[in-house]
Amino acid sequence: MRRKLVVGNWKMNGSLAQLGEIGLIAAAAKEAKGVDVAICPPFTLIAPARARAAGLAIGAQDCHGKESGACTGSVSAAMLKEVGARLVIVGHSERRAEQRESDEAIRAKAEAALRQGLQAIVCVGESEEDRVAGRHLAVVAGQLRGSLPDGAEGEGELVVAYEPIWAIGTGKVATPADVAEMHAAIRAELGRALGHRGFTVRILYGGSVKADNAAELFAVSDVDGALIGGASLTAKDFIPIIEAAAGAGRG
Ligand code: PEP
Repeated sequence: MRRKLVVGNWKMNGSLAQLGEIGLIAAAAKEAKGVDVAICPPFTLIAPARARAAGLAIGAQDCHGKESGACTGSVSAAMLKEVGARLVIVGHSERRAEQRESDEAIRAKAEAALRQGLQAIVCVGESEEDRVAGRHLAVVAGQLRGSLPDGAEGEGELVVAYEPIWAIGTGKVATPADVAEMHAAIRAELGRALGHRGFTVRILYGGSVKADNAAELFAVSDVDGALIGGASLTAKDFIPIIEAAAGAGRG
């Protein structure tokens, strides 16, 4: 059985003064049996967060596809590993949109992360327009085919996060039926791409996950955890979600 994984994405939020939240989240994560918990703060907080985070994995929100070179402003997977990151989110829809990241670039980032032994969380998800037009499954399958690392090479673990763009930061949540349909389709695509290893890949749901909807989402088949933005910024909001994942793991 796959262990639940709950990952907080702080986006461009947080400061040294807010690292106390990480300490509180780490303490709760230690108590929550059967759940893996991680926080991905901005790059500048990775090293100081590590010092506060026994029992909690710290990750990044992006990395470059190359190991080093003339790439001003970028950070490589090796650099993240050196400061203690254990995972990295790649292909978040905000980066696909704002930085115009292609599937090909995202695949290179995921492969770079896996080569360093980091967990690579590859994000996929359709726009509202895609869903209304009924092409959501095809769009996500296309993103997976384009951005999944080749044969999931490397020592790190591959994770997929399904995040419908229309549900991110909007308060709109996909229905359990919609989530079940998409996660089953992603599982099938992983099977095609990776063979039996596709069944070990954890698939997270992301998009307005909160304390009051987490348990229902975690009960959906093939939902192996969540990627959480807004509700990961404070221990008060995030800890009940970790507890819901622990409850789902026990059930
Ligand atoms: C995200 O940014 O990955 C996300 C899911 O955000 P939120 O939980 O705020 O919708």
